[in-house]
Formats: sequence, C-alpha cells, structure tokens
Amino acid sequence: MRIGVVGAGTMGAGVAESVARAGHDVTVVDPDQQAVERARSRMRDSLRLAILLGRTARPKPAEVTARVHWSGQITDLRAADVVIECVPERIELKEKVFAELDRVCAPGTLLASCTSGIPVARLAASTTRPEQVVGLHFMNPAPLKDTVEVVRGPRTSQQSLDRALALLTSLGKTGIVVGDGPGFLLNRVLMLCIAEAAAAVGDGIADAETTDALFEGCLGHPMGPLRTADLIGLDNVHDTMTALRELTGDDHYRPPATLVALVEAGHLGRKTGRGFHEYR
Ligand code: NAD
Repeated sequence: MRIGVVGAGTMGAGVAESVARAGHDVTVVDPDQQAVERARSRMRDSLRLAILLGRTARPKPAEVTARVHWSGQITDLRAADVVIECVPERIELKEKVFAELDRVCAPGTLLASCTSGIPVARLAASTTRPEQVVGLHFMNPAPLKDTVEVVRGPRTSQQSLDRALALLTSLGKTGIVVGDGPGFLLNRVLMLCIAEAAAAVGDGIADAETTDALFEGCLGHPMGPLRTADLIGLDNVHDTMTALRELTGDDHYRPPATLVALVEAGHLGRKTGRGFHEYR
C-alpha cells in the first residue's frame, strides 16, 4: 500500500516508521527541512533502539528507511492510497491541509487525521469526500503503542472505516472505534485531568513529582498526568486544550497558568529536556 503522511513532527515520524516497518511505502511531506532532518534522525534512532531492546529483529533498519520518501510538496501524495495528516493541532491549519489533500489526491484516497480532538466532521467539511474522512488517533510513541482510537465521523462510510481498520491490522495495531465530538473519548477526559493536575500544582497543593506519584502509586497508572503531558509535548497539549475550549465553549479546557508559563519559556516536555519534570 502507498501511504502519505503530512507533517514530519513527533507523530508524523512515528506513524511513518510504523507504516514502513509493516512493509508499506510511505511519503512524508513537510515544508520545514529542519523538521525533516530531525524526523529522519529520530526514525534511525528508534529503529536501532527497537533492535537493541530485542523488540524486533526484522526488518533491518536500512530496509525500513528505504521505504520512506521525504518531500516538501503535498502534490507528491497524488498516488497515495491512504494519507494520514499529522500537522499541528490548529483547526484552520488542518482545514487548509484537508482542502489541499482533497484537491491533490486521487478520488479513492482515504483521508485520515491524527488529530487529538478536532471533530472529523469539521475536517471532512473541508473536502468534497466526507465519506472518505476518518480519525486515526495514534498514541505517542506510535511504533510502540498497539492501540489506536479510530473516530467515525457522522458521514464516514462503513467502507472507509473498514479500510482504516484493515490498515491498522496490517501495522499490528488494534483500532477501537468511537463516535465523533471534540476530544473524542480519550482527550475529552485526559485534557481535563492534565488541566486540573497542572492547576493544582499552580495552587501549591502538590508539586509535579508528588502529583504523578499519587496517580502512579495509588491508582496504578503507568504514568501520571503531568509526565503524560511532558511526553505528548506541552505545546501540543496547549494547542489541544485551546482547540477543545474553542469547540466546546467549556472553560475547564482553558490552559492553566502553569502550562502557559512553561510553553512560553520553551520548556515543552521531553522533547526539550524540561517540562513539568526534567529529563536528561
Ligand atoms: P509537531 O509540532 O511535532 O509536528 C508537526 C509538524 O507538522 C511539524 O514538523 C511542522 O513543520 C509540520 N507542518 C506544519 N504545517 C504543515 C503543512 N502545511 N504541511 C506539512 N507539514 C506541516 O506535532 P505532533 O506532536 O507530531 O502532532 C501532530 C498531530 O498529532 C497533532 O494534531 C496532535 O494533536 C496529534 N497527536 C499528537 C500526539 C503527541 O503525543 N505529540 C499524540 C497523538 C496525536
């Protein structure tokens, strides 16, 4: 299968690696050459690490990277069977990308979004093929996470849903289907949890270490909400909360001051070495 990925950030690189590991050809489009270079090196590291950790002996990293093509032009996705959009969580940007994909891609191309919470109906409305638009909410890091939240928009056809689920099966992943709506299921709940945890830190109730220790120790969560936010990327968490607040009108999604301050200081979580926690 020929897969297109739009955006070579954290998720675009991870999704492209998952797809290439499964034997599909993938073209990743990002106009930012530095983002492309970072994604290439992240993918090489991730493939080496997988072998070191014994997670996979095959395919060889060189075989995987040979299946990945990098481009700055969205028109290079003309021949893709499926395109997975992974650009930042901003409504107007994603709408623009979907309108472009609709113009560029063949009539049968399935258009998927990795959005954290922008309704599929909204993205589908930017195209002339709403029945071929679906949400594929991969988790980070995509090559390691076996389950994907699959979002069926009000106009997504059964055939498109089946194609999306078959693609995930070919990647060795399981899709769990949910209905459409801001934040879908996971981020509708998770973003409120992160917002409250960050606000509690701001109120001096507990520091970040204590907050996560409670979720991990008392509730058995493998990762507390603030460590999870650091993994997602605090800029992305900020954008997702902002989009959810805009879409729902619910002030509980307003990014709390502690989060805003970290983003403004450039402390974006694991990817910059510091967020709510410090990373070496
Ligand atoms: P990111 O900021 O790391 O990467 C986004 C990339 O998109 C950048 O490299 C940027 O150059 C590129 N881009 C911007 N405009 C573009 C355009 N018009 N065409 C092509 N490329 C363009 O973001 P991310 O963390 O990879 O998130 C991408 C999407 O995945 C978002 O919708 C996010 O909500 C979602 N998501 C993120 C996570 C996570 O943990 N980071 C998890 C699940 C879903």
